[in-house]
Amino acid sequence: MSAIGELIQNSRKIVLKIGSNVLSDENGNVNKEILQNIVGQVTGLIKDGKQIIIVSSGAGICGVAAINKWSRRGDINYKQALCAIGQVELMNAYKQYFSDHDIHVGQMLLTREDFGDHLRTLNIRNTLFTLVDEGVVPIINENDSVSVEEIKIGDNDTLGALTANLWNADLLIVMSDIDGVYDKNPKDYKDAELIEEVYDIDGLLQEIDPRGKSSFGTGGILTKIQAARRVNEYGISMILVNGKRKDILTNVVNHDAKATVFFSR
Ligand code: ADP
Repeated sequence: MSAIGELIQNSRKIVLKIGSNVLSDENGNVNKEILQNIVGQVTGLIKDGKQIIIVSSGAGICGVAAINKWSRRGDINYKQALCAIGQVELMNAYKQYFSDHDIHVGQMLLTREDFGDHLRTLNIRNTLFTLVDEGVVPIINENDSVSVEEIKIGDNDTLGALTANLWNADLLIVMSDIDGVYDKNPKDYKDAELIEEVYDIDGLLQEIDPRGKSSFGTGGILTKIQAARRVNEYGISMILVNGKRKDILTNVVNHDAKATVFFSR
């Protein structure tokens, strides 16, 4: 079995972050088929005895899909209103697909302040432990409707890492629309080469050009690398996989599908 396969097999507590690009198609509509497939993969992991917390982006896209006439409104109130609408759509889709497997979901919307306050972090931790112990899948997102720019976590890669550290996860899996970290942006350079194993993040940052992000993403590759650094410091490894590929988690375990692993020491 591959190193990634072993890492997944040996991890019991997994945080799975799903990027907005994974959940959108080329036209910006919600890709329900892939969402349903990911829910199926998560269910498989739970049946294997694993505990999963999902950190999901995609509320903005779901909002635009629901109320298209607002899609070009640039003002912040409309953007936050779209997220409020889209969050319901997104959770509705998760609820529907998980209930096909008789699994309940619970929503938690968090802000940066929640992670800075001892009592709040304790409460978040307790709620997460309770949900997971009861077999419920927590689905976390930033509370975009109340987060103003200055106090934002800003991207769900960071939120995923904070969650993994808070919950003492064994592994953080980040799903994006690329097979892993390349030496340069694969969307711009056909000859970009995939880096499959990372042990030294400072070394990696000297090797690659991390600029650029895809159409709907907020963080780009840099926030993913920073997320890896955050969890690695807590002894948690991170895997970056292409969530747009069907059955990717099964395929990285059993069929040597490509990905990047950031190994903690
Ligand atoms: P998500 O919505 O999944 O968080 P982002 O758009 O924020 O996705 O970040 C992923 C994007 O980062 C990729 O689609 C790719 O275009 C871009 N990118 C820039 N540099 C690199 C690199 N060196 N390796 C991989 N991806 C890169």
